[in-house]
Amino acid sequence: MAAGESGIHLCVFDLDHTLVRSDLDLDRMKRDVASHLRRRGVGLAMGEPLPPIAELLRAAEVHDGRHGSRVAAEVWQIVAEHERRALAAAREEPGARETLGALRARGCWVAVWTNNASATAAEALARAGLAGLVDVLVGRDDAGALKPAPDGFKVILDRLAAVAGCRHARRAGAVAARCHGDAGVARKRATERAIVIGDSWIDGAAASAAGVRFVAFRTPASIFAARGVPVWRRVEHLAEVLHLPGMPAGSRCG
Ligand SMILES: [Mg+2]
Repeated sequence: MAAGESGIHLCVFDLDHTLVRSDLDLDRMKRDVASHLRRRGVGLAMGEPLPPIAELLRAAEVHDGRHGSRVAAEVWQIVAEHERRALAAAREEPGARETLGALRARGCWVAVWTNNASATAAEALARAGLAGLVDVLVGRDDAGALKPAPDGFKVILDRLAAVAGCRHARRAGAVAARCHGDAGVARKRATERAIVIGDSWIDGAAASAAGVRFVAFRTPASIFAARGVPVWRRVEHLAEVLHLPGMPAGSRCG
C-alpha cells in the first residue's frame, strides 16, 4: 500500500452497468429528456455529449420556478419509465455475486449508490440475485442531490452507522461516529477507508467531491481524464476489486 492510502473497509458500488447489467440506455434517456425540454420551451444550451440528467433537471426546475410549470416532474416520469423498462432485463454483472460475497466474508461493508429510484434499484438487485449482499442502498430519493453531487455518500455513512451498530463499528474500524465521540474524526476516517466503484465519469466526480478514492470499472481512462476526474485504480472485472491495494485478505476488515 502506498503512503497515505488507508486499508479498505467500505466498497460503494454504482448499480447500472457496474453491479447490474440492464438495457438501461442513459444516452437515449438523456436524448428523450432533452427533446421534452425543448418541446416545453426550457432554455438550455445542449451540445453533444448531452449534459448529465442532474443538469437537465436543474434547468427544468429553474424553468418551473419562473413559470409555475411542472416540467421537472415530467422529466422524472420519463426517467422512471426508462428505468422501469430496463428492469425487466436486469441481470447480474458477471462476478458480482462472488465479489460481494467475498467482500462481506472479509468484513467489508458493501453499499450501492445510484441515481435510480431506490425502489427500482432494490428490485434490480433482487432480480440480479444481489439483494442479500448489500448492506446499504442509497437511491436518488435518499440523497439530497444526484451524482455527480457527493450528497449520497454522506447518507451511506449515516445509514451504515445505524446498520453497523456500535459493537460492529468498533470492530470494523470507525464507521459509526456515535461510537467515537468525535463525529468529524470518525467520518474522515470512514471516508479514507472507502472506495467508490463505477463505470461513469459521474461516479468518479461524485467520489472525488466526497473525498473518496475512485475505481473505474471497464470504462477507458481517457473518458475520466477528459472530465478531469481522478481515478485511483481501474479494473476490467469486478473480481479484481478483491485484489486492490489495502483490501483485507483475512476474514475481517479493520
Ligand atoms: Mg453506471
